[in-house]
Amino acid sequence: MISLVKPYIAPKEEMMPEIEQILYSGYIAVGEAVDKFESEFGDYIENPNVVSLSSGTAALHIALSLLDIGPGDEVISTAMTAEPTNTTIALTGAKIVWADVDRQTGLLDPASVREKITERTRAIMLVHYAGMVCNMDEFNKISDEYNIPVIEDSAHALSSKYAGKPVGSNSRYTCYSFQAIKHMTTIDGGAISFKEGTEVNEAKKLRWFGLDKKCSRLENDIRKAGYKYGMNNVNATIGLVQLRHMKDIIGKHIANGKYYDQALSSIPGITLIPYYPNTEPSYWLYTMQVENRAEFCRLLESRGIMASLLHHRSDTHSVFSLSKCELPALDQFYEHFVHIPCGWWVGDEDREFIVDTIKRGW
Ligand SMILES: *Cc1c(COP(=O)(O)O)cnc(C)c1O
Repeated sequence: MISLVKPYIAPKEEMMPEIEQILYSGYIAVGEAVDKFESEFGDYIENPNVVSLSSGTAALHIALSLLDIGPGDEVISTAMTAEPTNTTIALTGAKIVWADVDRQTGLLDPASVREKITERTRAIMLVHYAGMVCNMDEFNKISDEYNIPVIEDSAHALSSKYAGKPVGSNSRYTCYSFQAIKHMTTIDGGAISFKEGTEVNEAKKLRWFGLDKKCSRLENDIRKAGYKYGMNNVNATIGLVQLRHMKDIIGKHIANGKYYDQALSSIPGITLIPYYPNTEPSYWLYTMQVENRAEFCRLLESRGIMASLLHHRSDTHSVFSLSKCELPALDQFYEHFVHIPCGWWVGDEDREFIVDTIKRGW
């Protein structure tokens, strides 16, 4: 079966000695490896204002906490995502306000977001779903015009680009996940990056109970309760090895994605997704719209190719029932979208086989 997702782990000869070294070093908690990972991840996304964390969920939660979002506040978000984008908002006690998606892309629609803004809106949560980048030209305008901060959930978008730069320094906050199936895994892990460096220290406090690592325990005074959300040296060491391979690994996702953009461009029953101006996807998944999706998935599966939705729309969960509203564009997009295998494990022959299979019809 050609699968839709697969964890990438760097070669054994390279990875195992480093893991062994750190495991028996006596320094498995937070230390130099974490600092080094933060710094090298910062180089990778071309932004030094990075705080590493235990998960992408922690990154989202910290962004919301830095904004002191809580009961009585509203956060505009999308239902077209994985659950943690929105469970973290629910955890703060704020109300999630769904905005609709762009029917063509499945990504949050700036026009719908504008309509949903009220005097209670405290943040806009964007998801670069499957590695496709949101309409940032428009969202930057909205953020400036209303002075509402944007949180970019970039769990799928490591190496995606906006305005020629990796995502990660455009909005006030960008959140990454290094969970098993994301572009880069540290087994579990995450990071938050900031447009400006001013909140880095506060984020570091929030990841460690509210304590300031720069002072001794006795001198510390917790003013705001934090979490236990830091990355440890073992995951950071894994991340440092993984990072060396990311240009190649994500490069393969991108090459496969571009191949499909060409090869699938004029097949009856398939509508490809256009990318917004100034954006370049990193193709964590290859997403498109198809007619007769159930048949399409059955055919591919019978040929050993996985094709599916992967995520379930979030607005159907009971925990979000108070946010229920009409989302007609999402209804339509949701009926037709599908992912096909596109990652580093999909070789040239595989991708040709996938295109041939699709070309024969379903
Ligand atoms: C994976 C994911 C997250 C959360 O990441 P974890 O590291 O698993 O906590 C957040 N948002 C989206 C869209 C995701 O796919």
